[in-house]
This record gives sequence, C-alpha cells and structure tokens, in this order.
Amino acid sequence: MSKRDISPRKAIKKFSPYVPGKSIEEVKEEYGLKEVIKLASNENLWGTSSRAIERIKKELDRLYLYPQSEPVLLKRALSKKFNISADSFIAGNGTDEIIELIAKTFLSEKDKMLISKNSFIRYKMGGILMGAKVVEVPQNKLRIDLEKIFKKIDNETKLIFIDNPCNPTGTFVSESEIKEFISKIEKLEIPPLVVFDEAYYEYADSNSYDSAVKLLDRNVPLMVLRTFSKIYGLAGLRIGYGISSPGIISLIDRIRPPFNTNRLAQAAALGALEDYEFIAKINSRISEEKEYLYGELKELDLEYVESQTNFILVKFGKEIVESLCEHLLKNGIILRPLKGYSLDDYIRITVGKGQQNEKLISCIREFLS
Ligand code: PMP
Repeated sequence: MSKRDISPRKAIKKFSPYVPGKSIEEVKEEYGLKEVIKLASNENLWGTSSRAIERIKKELDRLYLYPQSEPVLLKRALSKKFNISADSFIAGNGTDEIIELIAKTFLSEKDKMLISKNSFIRYKMGGILMGAKVVEVPQNKLRIDLEKIFKKIDNETKLIFIDNPCNPTGTFVSESEIKEFISKIEKLEIPPLVVFDEAYYEYADSNSYDSAVKLLDRNVPLMVLRTFSKIYGLAGLRIGYGISSPGIISLIDRIRPPFNTNRLAQAAALGALEDYEFIAKINSRISEEKEYLYGELKELDLEYVESQTNFILVKFGKEIVESLCEHLLKNGIILRPLKGYSLDDYIRITVGKGQQNEKLISCIREFLS
C-alpha cells in the first residue's frame, strides 16, 4: 500500500489560527500567582446577569437531553424584543460561529470581501478560510471609513463586515454615516451582503450612535450580529445571534451544525434578555470606571482613544508594549497587546472594577517611572 500525503485545501495552508490572549489559569501557573486579573478580552468583570444564572440552575437537571437544535424559545423572545419575525434570527455558538457560517455560506475563491483595517480579526479569518480575496480598507484616525469602503465595492464584492462599535479601537460610525452608506449600496445593481457586528451595542452611549437594525427593511442584503458574551456576562457559555431577512437566514441555517447552541446557553440567554436592570447597572459602572481611567491616563500623559465600549485603546509606543505587558503579567494583570492588528504602539485595556483599575494604573505608573 502506498503512503498518501494528506494535504489540506489551498486556503488552509494560508490560514493562521486565532491566537487568544493568555487565560487566568495559564498566568497563575506560569508566574506562580494566586490572584490574576484579566483585562484582556472585554469580558464583563462584574459577572453574569442574575436572571441568566437562575435559568441556568433550573436547566441543570436536563443536561442529559439535547438542546433545541434551533432555539425556538430564544428566537421567539428575540422576535418579541425586536418586533421582527422569528424566522429572521439565527443563534450561534458565539457570534464567532455566525461570522464563520456567513463566510462559508457566501464566499468562494472568486469572491471579494471588504473589511476595515483594525477590525475584529475573525472576519478576515472567514474570508481566508474560503479562499476569497480579503481587502482591508484603511481607517481614518482609528475610525472605520465607510466612504472609503463604499468606493472599493466592485462586481466581485460579495460581503462586507463592519464592527460598530469597532474592536479593538472602541470607535463607532454614526447613524447618519451608516444610513448614507446603505442608501448608496441600495442604488447598486448587485449590492453585497453588509454585516454590522454590534457586539458592543449595549455599551454605546453616544447620541449619534444607532443600531443598523432599523435599516433591515431597506432594499439591501443586511445582517446585524449581537452577542451575549459582552455586557450580559455570558462569554463562557458561547451564544450570540444574527438578524437578517428570512431568506438570508435560511441560507446560513442550511449549514449551521445541529445543536450548535447548548442547553445552558439557550436558557441563560432567555434570562439575560429580560434583565434590563443588569444592563443599566453595568453601563453606569463602566461609565464611572472609564472616567477614572481616562483621568489617570491623562495624568500619565498617555494617549487614548475615546471608547463606546468596555475597553480602551491606549498608546504606549511599540518600544515598551512588550516589556510593559510582561511587567503587568508578573504583577498578575493580563492585557491585550495588538501586534496582530497592526497597532503595535497600542494596548487594549478592558475596563475592570474599581480596585482592579487602581492596581492596573499603579503598576503602569511604577513601570513608567
Ligand atoms: N465581534 C466582535 C466585534 C468582538 O469583539 C467579538 C469578541 N471579541 C466577537 C464578535 C465574538 O464574540 P462572541 O463569539 O463571544 O459572541
């Protein structure tokens, strides 16, 4: 029998896996620490919505049963919340999974995908996975430039991803900018599918910010993504959702793995959706803590980007980013340097709770002096 060399598809040869930040467990072990604070992955440091926890507890007796393959109850609840038909929703094992499913559904080697530079890296990964041409459009002063993106659309452009607010910059594109963008796309003979990823929607408080959900009835293939990982504090359970026309949803649904969202995640999402008090509480804490951090960063003479999210992009300069992160790790604080995002000068800091932020600032001050 001849030996066969199993080689992956061409696209896989070019594919680099996602590199997550270090986990608390890893850092504890590596640095011999008892306490570690992770301010690296934009998690909600106040924890999880209590209504979500209540639902999870009730669900524990039913773990031997498969979950609903299509989370009918969750889709019904979302339908009520948005006043949009239930068949306009798809749930995923995190929006991460939905991003990949969108790429797998719509992209092939002949297609082009447009994304903004310095956007969430999973869009680019989806394009590369499918062998599509990925065009990264430069930002304007760390803001997504919709005008520039529009100018890059041609007949091969099948898909556009826009994170609004944007990770890792924390900036946003305004309601008027997205309306103008969609109006221009509406006039194209073959409009691409435009996906607005609103993972940080609940944190955005600028008067000029608005969700793209209101534009779903426009004559453009449009999709909006939301997640339970961020403000709802459910990153560990992996559940997010997408909203689009029933036609687009049914195409993506064809390849959605069965039972892709688990029983606990579905139950938790149902509880979290009702927890308006929790959202209001977290938003007010984040605003307070962001003000504290802005004040301290100013005092330290460090440049930062005003954020519509629960994280802040801070410019330290590429010469010190690595050594500062190492100093912080030794002190039990994990941050996210942004080499992979061509933002070598910057570190992204998740806004933590009072004492966590105080410890962070004190360690940065110690390092800089
Ligand atoms: N979109 C954006 C903009 C993000 O920052 C993240 C998380 N880092 C995700 C999507 C993925 O979130 P999840 O898969 O946890 O829903």
